Amino acid sequence: MTAEIIDGKAFAADVRGRVAEHVARLKEENGITPGLAVVLVGEDPASQVYVRSKGRLTVEVGMKSFEHRLPAETPEEELLALIERLNADPEVNGILVQLPLPKHLHEDLIINAIDPAKDVDGFHISNVGLLATGQKAMVPCTPLGCLMLLREQLGSLSGREAVVIGRSNIVGKPMAQLLLRDSCTVTIAHSRTRDIEEVVRRADIVVAAVGRPEMVTADWIKPGATVIDVGINRLAPEEEGGKGRLVGDVDFDGVKAVAGAITPVPGGVGPMTIACLLANTLTATCRAHALEEPEGLTA
Ligand code: NDP
Repeated sequence: MTAEIIDGKAFAADVRGRVAEHVARLKEENGITPGLAVVLVGEDPASQVYVRSKGRLTVEVGMKSFEHRLPAETPEEELLALIERLNADPEVNGILVQLPLPKHLHEDLIINAIDPAKDVDGFHISNVGLLATGQKAMVPCTPLGCLMLLREQLGSLSGREAVVIGRSNIVGKPMAQLLLRDSCTVTIAHSRTRDIEEVVRRADIVVAAVGRPEMVTADWIKPGATVIDVGINRLAPEEEGGKGRLVGDVDFDGVKAVAGAITPVPGGVGPMTIACLLANTLTATCRAHALEEPEGLTA
């Protein structure tokens, strides 16, 4: 069997197109333009790249983009004061504080200062609780993107065995909650899981969010399973003849001979994350104005 390759890049472009259409309607019918504020503290090069492309794609779908770049040594009170201003600003519907933050800033404190209704990353403790209790939440972008890809690929997920590898707050745990919400039988595997290969081999759906290059190999996969690779790992240049290729947490070449469908890296989950950030900003805007939410763009 050769797996179907799930084209996350194309699907993300489709999601952004649907967001743009809805934004155009909001402007025309309600005079509302959604706004997304991104806060970047410090000069982390990877974060700068993310923030730039977030800003570009926000404008491309017709939303307002507000960028706040603060020096690495910004005191906590100053960042909290900015978040307070953004919480109160009616032009801002979504707030994203780019992580990781410099060491002197307390991530939990900062994230929990964001108005939960504008928390488009879905990391605020209220949104975590709402998701866990099956209520209407802002859902973290990467797991939401994985869920959309799975629904598109498989239709109903009900009754399927799902194994999520990784239990982080930003990917593994919310992913497991979303799969549970869609009535999968969910197992979360992590670094202490015994016989992890055996556990993963039970799965109809595997979501790998580990951060270990090509850890999941073909012999871990049940024939025909759907494999979603969240991992983004840059191989050291010396391993790759000087190029430093990007790979996922799944051995793509090996696993694609066994799986039914698989996401590539790059071009799988990655592009879905920003598309879902824009979808979440649209959802937050509709909720703020008590308007109908976009269909197919939320959990
Ligand atoms: P974290 O480091 O926060 O979590 C990794 C998880 O993997 C932990 O739960 C850890 O277990 C588990 N783990 C580590 N080693 C093993 C092992 N040998 N066997 C089983 N489980 C293991 O990572 P994130 O969740 O933040 O990110 C995971 C990956 O996804 C990274 O490559 C990251 O770059 C990528 N990512 C991609 C995004 C995208 O947009 N596509 C967005 C976010 C992340 P334990 O808890 O026991 O330590």
